[in-house]
Formats: sequence, structure tokens, C-alpha cells
Amino acid sequence: MAASGEGGRARPEGQAPAFYRYKVGNFLMTALSDGMNVRKLEPGFISNADFAEVEKAVRAVFLPVDKLPVPFNPLLIDTGPDLVLIDTGFADNGPPTAGQLAGNLAAAGVRPEYVTKVVITHFHGDHIAGLRRKNGDLVYPNAEILVPEPEWRFWTDDSNAAGAPEAAKPHFQHVRRVFGPIANEVRRYEWDQEVLPGFTALGAPGHTPGHTIFRIESDGERMLFLSDTTNHPALFVRHPDWSPTFDMDPDQARRTRRRVLDLAASEGCLVASYHYPFPAIGRIVRAGDAFELVPAQWMPVL
Ligand SMILES: [Zn+2]
Repeated sequence: MAASGEGGRARPEGQAPAFYRYKVGNFLMTALSDGMNVRKLEPGFISNADFAEVEKAVRAVFLPVDKLPVPFNPLLIDTGPDLVLIDTGFADNGPPTAGQLAGNLAAAGVRPEYVTKVVITHFHGDHIAGLRRKNGDLVYPNAEILVPEPEWRFWTDDSNAAGAPEAAKPHFQHVRRVFGPIANEVRRYEWDQEVLPGFTALGAPGHTPGHTIFRIESDGERMLFLSDTTNHPALFVRHPDWSPTFDMDPDQARRTRRRVLDLAASEGCLVASYHYPFPAIGRIVRAGDAFELVPAQWMPVL
């Protein structure tokens, strides 16, 4: 939107298109933004931390103490034979600050019908809602959709839906709306298997029962896609034992978080993560008994 500045000149306030390319072996990666949500930061958001400690952690990175920016960052991978999208954002089913993926894909020169595979890491709404627009249309009409088997089992079980706490109900609704009409066409994948050439699914349960991360390998190089192992790095990479309310099994999620961060630090490879600040790539290093994200440098040329 253009507001007028001094002298009547335009003063545009829209952001630059948010896509960022990098390579892993022969794979061409494009980090994409679907926008963000702003989450109220309040006592209880992290169930096992003193709120004064939480305030200290966000102050340390100069974020406000009352609201946490939560960006959504799907990842597109051109493998040659396939154009693979990991997670989808919201399309037009989310908050007004989300739903930017379509515009950013277009800016990156990619049409939705080019996408041949959509790989889903888990069934929270910010990861699956963007498979289908509000009017019912599939956003990626030519893509095969791959989902984790344990996640499918949990979220399509009617007794789990009936017994779900209020906060989880919208997620069940997204699952029914998105997958109901295509339940027989979705490909369910298992952990510890190469689900596509170069993509190995690794179980990382706790955030959700079937939460999955990926090892992505091409031509001797590799990276890890950490999905929602941690939300904001200033909180949960630095404090891996803190439990945000959206971890469905907090104890399991904490164990998983330490195990995955430890793996990332040991491998020293590039990581991408769905909720890190854009373009959401870097490396995990050890810091005392915890970890630190070292963001990757923005490279103006590929
Ligand atoms: Zn998420």
C-alpha cells in the first residue's frame, strides 16, 4: 500500500517478495515465506518456565515482551525430476498476516501447477491448510501429497477428535477439510525411509504424535529440515527444555528437541526450520548445556 510521503512522492510500505535460493548438492532450494502470525506472549505460554526468564530471553534478542512473531516458511526443492514443496502455510484460511506463499511463489517464477510433490511434516493448520483454498480448490493440482503415517493415524481417528481439547479442535477441522475428499489419493510414508530420492523421513514426535523432520541429501551434500522441533530459536534453541503450549506431549517433545538439536550440532550441516526468522536457514552449535542458531549469511548470488 502506498502512503504519501514528503513532497507528495509515493511511500510504499509493502515488503520485498520473500524467497531465497541456495543449493544442497544438485538440489536447488527456495526458501519461501507464507507470512507470519503474532502470538501473545504471556505467562503460561511456556508451561515450565518462570515468565521473568521468558521476558529475559526475548529481551536478549530485542523482541517485544508481549508478542512473539511466528513466521511460516515452507521450503521448495527442485530435484531435477521433481519440484517438492515441504509444508504449505495457510493459503486463504489463516490470519490476514499469512497467505503470502502464492505471491512469493509467483515472484520466484514458480506456478503452483509445476509442483509435483507436497511433503507434509505434521498436521497442524499452519502446515496443511494451504493445500486447499477456502472455496475447496486444491492449490497444487498436479502434486502427489505425502504425509507421515503416524500423523495420519492420530488425526483421522474420530475418538481423538471427540476427546480433543478446545485448542486442538481447529487442527482436526483443517485435517477433515483438507484431506477428507482426497483420503484415498494421499501417500502415507513411514519413518526411517527414503520417501523420495534424497529425502529421508526421521521421526521427531512430541510436538505432534507423527511430527517428522527430514534429512535431505544430494551429490554428497546434506541438510536437515527441522520442521517444528523448535519454534523461535531465541526461546527454544537456547532453552530446549522449555515447553510451549503447542507441544502436544511436552515430555516427549523436550527429549526429541534435545536429540534433534544434538544431531544437528554433531553433523554441522545446514538446517532449515519452519518458524525461524526468514530465510530460516543456518547451523546449530552447542552453547554450554544448550544450543545456538548461527544464521546463514545472505548470498546475493547463488
Ligand atoms: Zn508450525
